[in-house]
Amino acid sequence: MYRGGALVTPGGVVEGSLRVDGGRITEIGADVRPAPSDEVVDATGCYVLPGGVDPHCHVMADVAAAAAGAVQGGTTTLLSFTSPEPGEAPVAAIERARVLVAEAHPVVDVGLHAACYEPDSLSPEDVEAVAAAGGDAIKCFLAYPELGIMATGGGLFRAMSYAARAGLPVQVHCEDGELIEAMVEEASAAGRRHTRTFAEVRPAAAEELAVERVIAFATITGARCYLPHLSTRGALESVRRARLAGGTCEVTAEVCLHHVLLDDRAYGDERAEELLVAPPLRDRAEVEAVAAALADGSVDTVGSDHSQVRTPVDARIARSPYSTYGIAGAGARLPLLLAWGLGHGVAMDRLSHLLSAGPAGSFGYRNKGRLALGMDGDVVVWDPGGEWTVAADSFPDGTGTAPYAGRRVTGRVRSVCLRGRMVVREGELVSTVGAGRIIEPAARR
Ligand SMILES: [Zn+2]
Repeated sequence: MYRGGALVTPGGVVEGSLRVDGGRITEIGADVRPAPSDEVVDATGCYVLPGGVDPHCHVMADVAAAAAGAVQGGTTTLLSFTSPEPGEAPVAAIERARVLVAEAHPVVDVGLHAACYEPDSLSPEDVEAVAAAGGDAIKCFLAYPELGIMATGGGLFRAMSYAARAGLPVQVHCEDGELIEAMVEEASAAGRRHTRTFAEVRPAAAEELAVERVIAFATITGARCYLPHLSTRGALESVRRARLAGGTCEVTAEVCLHHVLLDDRAYGDERAEELLVAPPLRDRAEVEAVAAALADGSVDTVGSDHSQVRTPVDARIARSPYSTYGIAGAGARLPLLLAWGLGHGVAMDRLSHLLSAGPAGSFGYRNKGRLALGMDGDVVVWDPGGEWTVAADSFPDGTGTAPYAGRRVTGRVRSVCLRGRMVVREGELVSTVGAGRIIEPAARR
């Protein structure tokens, strides 16, 4: 049980104690007494938070390593995209991912988003099968024609229609692939192969065009849409407009940590290659608009877009044959957002919502993301005092990269429990072998 700390609950931050029994939160209050067998954690001077739920990661290449890095930063649930092989049905990729997670014995729980790499041949049965297999969403892409996974308008329309009927949310990667393709060809013809060329061919307008399109499709099809990694003022304004219109469009907005903490000046320095990501880092004005949206409630979730393996940059514009993109951040997400947010006057319960309850609720995980009776005993003790510097090995996720290394951070994760089992104690990982398992959303209909 936990005592002496400030509990970050759905009703606000309250002083009190909390007890976990049988993997679930069984008591919260001022007068909770430990059972003789309880480990008592003295959280005096600390916040006690629900375990982080990362709504956006790609971890199938090494689930165990990604989990170890994530839990070191207080995240106890990773919601990961599947990685379908060519010709593999979305449900088959889910079943394969289940085996990978079981074999990995990760230290965190894992939920699965079904990536659809062949959206134009998707059938209603494919989407029903994903829902029946415990997938929490399907994901389509409006970009990446060079990878062969870009949805046509017709493909996206049908996918969203099927998902609406199956009760699944649809995630859409919002960048206009046709515009980007034309800009890649132009850059290639001009011989532009700088590191920053990758970012230059993916302008803010490409994202904004795609967001408008998806919102229109969602309004027509009735699909709930979840928009990952929004990174521009215009994209967030489209979300606000859709909500104000008060129609049938249900839209959830995600922002990723790197679009809050980093900006495109990074593409001018020696770490530029390491920070290539799609959508790319934006200019200061966009970053400030994203930051404001975190505080004002326009954004529902903060993800990491943690990529366990990076993707080669399109050969037509790559600086070298070894240029890759994709960022790590499942471990950094919670402690770095808390430090940034509290430093910028964002309330603790709002930050916790963005890190835990928002992501869990967006995908129907009713037992995750909140300190409340009956919830899974996923609990983080976070000490708001003291400064430290992120090191290359602060979040040992096996990616070999550390996009936030060198950053000064206030506050640190002291302990982490997954379903009542201590995984991080006094800042140290107890074991890389854990009791993490696949989780499924609650019934949707
Ligand atoms: Zn992603």
